[in-house]
Amino acid sequence: MRPCPAAHGTACGLLDAAFQAIEASEALEFDTRAADGYIPMDQPPPRMNREPQTGEPDDLIVARLEGLYCPPGDFYIDPWRPVERAVITHAHSDHARFGHLHYLSTRAGANVLLSRLPGIALQTLDYGEPLALGATRVSLHPAGHVLGSAQVRIEHAGRVWVASGDYKLDVDPTCAAFEPVRCDTFITESTFGLPIYRWDAPRSIFDSIDSWWRHNASEGRASVLFCYSFGKAQRVLASVDAAIGPIFCHGAVEPLNRAYREAGVRLPAVGLVGEIAAKDKAVFREALIVAPPSAQNSAWLKRFGDYSDAFASGWMRLRGARRRRGVDRGFVLSDHADWPGLQTAIRESGATRVIVTHGSVEPMVRWLNEQGLQASAFDTQYGDDTVEADAAGAASGDEAPEATTTATTTTSESTPDASARIDRGES
Ligand SMILES: [Zn+2]
Ligand SMILES: [Zn+2]
Repeated sequence: MRPCPAAHGTACGLLDAAFQAIEASEALEFDTRAADGYIPMDQPPPRMNREPQTGEPDDLIVARLEGLYCPPGDFYIDPWRPVERAVITHAHSDHARFGHLHYLSTRAGANVLLSRLPGIALQTLDYGEPLALGATRVSLHPAGHVLGSAQVRIEHAGRVWVASGDYKLDVDPTCAAFEPVRCDTFITESTFGLPIYRWDAPRSIFDSIDSWWRHNASEGRASVLFCYSFGKAQRVLASVDAAIGPIFCHGAVEPLNRAYREAGVRLPAVGLVGEIAAKDKAVFREALIVAPPSAQNSAWLKRFGDYSDAFASGWMRLRGARRRRGVDRGFVLSDHADWPGLQTAIRESGATRVIVTHGSVEPMVRWLNEQGLQASAFDTQYGDDTVEADAAGAASGDEAPEATTTATTTTSESTPDASARIDRGES
């Protein structure tokens, strides 16, 4: 066992759990088919490694083969198989899929959802607006993850459950801020649910991106930033200093930009790379180019002449992920809560029972139980949607994460489950 640098001594197992999680993730195969689209409905469930739990008899949400189901309301939340009524927390492809008869989402997220799933039968709610579904009262509350993202609040017979979807607590100018919602039972994601994951303040991350871009521009070199095309790209566009130089996007990013603009999100003027003649390399000399990770190592990059590249993802927290990505710079920028953010959200929910859906499930369940909460897990198919997934794959490996001295300071002394794992997820 490695000694804990936070002076918990060698008996502290949290770091070992973190290392084991990283090593365990090496065994996962990462599917890039879903990189920028939705996961086909006919795909067999990749990770149903346990019998689906059904929970207690009168739970407000139970796990079924189709997805998380609310019996008294007769609806599903982000189901992965076709159902009659789906409440969608947000439009990332592992949470919002084709094939359901009726969809319910936030009004703020409608543009993006329809741009990804055109033609669906969609009903929308304003944040906080209640709706009777079956015997329940349902409302959607900001999750701070991407535009339109919501936590689902379900009230029935005097009890309240909240399903978080994906969330973050950090400031993001492109979506409504996370709102703590009091509940008895909180269903939480745990994408970055290990003590090694702690984000810097967003402003300082964007300052780093700006100075990287400014430096490249001063040397007449294009700056190509890879990030997920829905959510992260718009957050980057809205947060960088557009005075440094022109900004261009890959064609995969543009439809999302349009949906964000239509929803009233302010983004700077952005050119389309595809509209510039291939010989006009000089146009990009001082430019920032925002592209999905799928464009990496493609011939598309040739048009920029001399360029520096970078990748923005929470997985960039891991040195191995950065190295395997093979980019000049890795910016640790996530649309998920970090370890302290998860703890804060769970605490502020006031819930005495917590159910963990995806990410570092076992360490989080263990940690919550140690805090005196009643914690368990649902097996879900969330966390498979994005290309940052490959960064997670790249995060597997042979190297310790950096700055482990910051780990474990808020944790207890006991050893989390050795089967800790990092699951795939957009960040
Ligand atoms: Zn998401
Ligand atoms: Zn997710």
